Amino acid sequence: MQKIANYIDGSLQEPTSNNYLENINPAIGKVYSLCPDSDETDVELAYQAAKAAFPEWSNMSANNRSKILLKLADLIEQNIDKLAIAESIDQGKPVWLAKLGEIPRAVENIHFFATAIEHFASESHSMGSHAINYTLRTPIGVVGCISPWNLPLYLFTWKIAPALAAGNCVVAKPSEVTPMTAYLFSELCIEAGLPKGVLNIVHGLGGKVGSAIVAHPGISVISFTGGTKTGAEIARVAAPMFKKLSLELGGKNPNIIFADCNFDKAVAESVRSSFSNQGEICLCGSRIFIEKPIYEKFKAAFIEKSKAMKVGNPLLDDTKIGAIASQLHFDKVLGYIDLAKEEGGTILLGGHPVKLDGENADGYFIAPTIIEGLAYNCRTNLEEIFGPVVTLTPFETQEEVLEMANATQYGLAATVWTENLNTAHHMAAQIKSGIVWINCWLLRDLRTPFGGMKQSGVGREGGWEALRFFTEQKNVCIKF
Ligand code: NAD
Repeated sequence: MQKIANYIDGSLQEPTSNNYLENINPAIGKVYSLCPDSDETDVELAYQAAKAAFPEWSNMSANNRSKILLKLADLIEQNIDKLAIAESIDQGKPVWLAKLGEIPRAVENIHFFATAIEHFASESHSMGSHAINYTLRTPIGVVGCISPWNLPLYLFTWKIAPALAAGNCVVAKPSEVTPMTAYLFSELCIEAGLPKGVLNIVHGLGGKVGSAIVAHPGISVISFTGGTKTGAEIARVAAPMFKKLSLELGGKNPNIIFADCNFDKAVAESVRSSFSNQGEICLCGSRIFIEKPIYEKFKAAFIEKSKAMKVGNPLLDDTKIGAIASQLHFDKVLGYIDLAKEEGGTILLGGHPVKLDGENADGYFIAPTIIEGLAYNCRTNLEEIFGPVVTLTPFETQEEVLEMANATQYGLAATVWTENLNTAHHMAAQIKSGIVWINCWLLRDLRTPFGGMKQSGVGREGGWEALRFFTEQKNVCIKF
């Protein structure tokens, strides 16, 4: 059976304990590879390697760092097919989705920050004829990057790329649920000639490897993407150590459909924003609010289109919904469907696991699920489900839908469908979320600030924000 290795000090290494975790293919429900069950000893080795690599990497010209990172981006691009298949097997997503969106986006992430660093500048503040201030922005040192299982290589590179481009060395931990593409990525780092120790990837459990990274006194920056509960635990440990923190956490995003919307577009994109990647995208719109005059019409069209989505083997091109990433998550999503029923919801579509034939018979598949008739403030409508499950709720006025949309502890993303400019601006201003999409969904410009309000996170990723996060500022004031 294939053994995944840690990537420490430029080489592929076994965990010091020699212990491994079983890595499961969720579409067949069976172990298909082994993931290092690393611990704080491996994190310490990774830290020491990163610390030793820091002086040279941080002093290298931005142009030379950029060249190495661009080579890495090229290598990912050359290996898109292999990486997409690996991502699909590891995570359960349709392979075409990985090929079309996620792996190319990993290339873009690295390309974007590798070129951005060549244009990154800092400010100066003149005090007229008697003084000038200039702000230095320098790499910080060894930083920790921890990522989740839903978009494995995409989110991993989204953190690592700006950290490395800015001149830091990294100790990174991918999710133990989906370690494969981070491992394949480490092979590409070696091929690209990334100097040893600059990036170290330690595989294993959150409670062992992740917590050792967060608690390490030498790692003064933590960039984390994952659940809100884990984010709170990381903040609890990191805050008294005065670590710089970026937390990208959960969401429960509203998708608001006004009667004057472009109906066909709103329906088609709502199907995508509900069920892409089995609904396992933090930006999916899981609460659909529909203006009353078109509620029944939208409901019928939305159900019809969703019904047509084939749940199947992720490796087949006509599969629209693949496997849920793990047994644990599969049980959690089904538990929420039961809760919705208990809370009085009516299941309009799905609401059950899907049993496939052949080798997929034990895979973790759930039918796209549409529920109506729930109060906007019941648990089903307030808690993150993170699966192919959405609720439909009618509304009458803008104020009413704003109250419902803003009712959760989360504030990551929102989508609004309207052809009325005033409505669009009003909603964009009043919705409490870090991202608002009007008449589109998941349209991303990597220069824009990415992140959430309230319990969806702290800080923003993307563009200059990310490079600022991964650098230390120092103001120098010179009196003439
Ligand atoms: P998770 O919080 O369980 O795990 C995320 C990562 O943290 C994993 O690598 C895990 O091993 C590690 N971890 C777990 N406990 C830790 C600890 N005590 N200390 C340090 N690290 C620890 O999240 P998940 O289930 O992997 O991912 C799903 C969640 O991620 C959802 O809530 C989703 O909304 C969120 N998410 C957010 C964004 C965003 O950009 N805001 C993007 C993707 C996913």
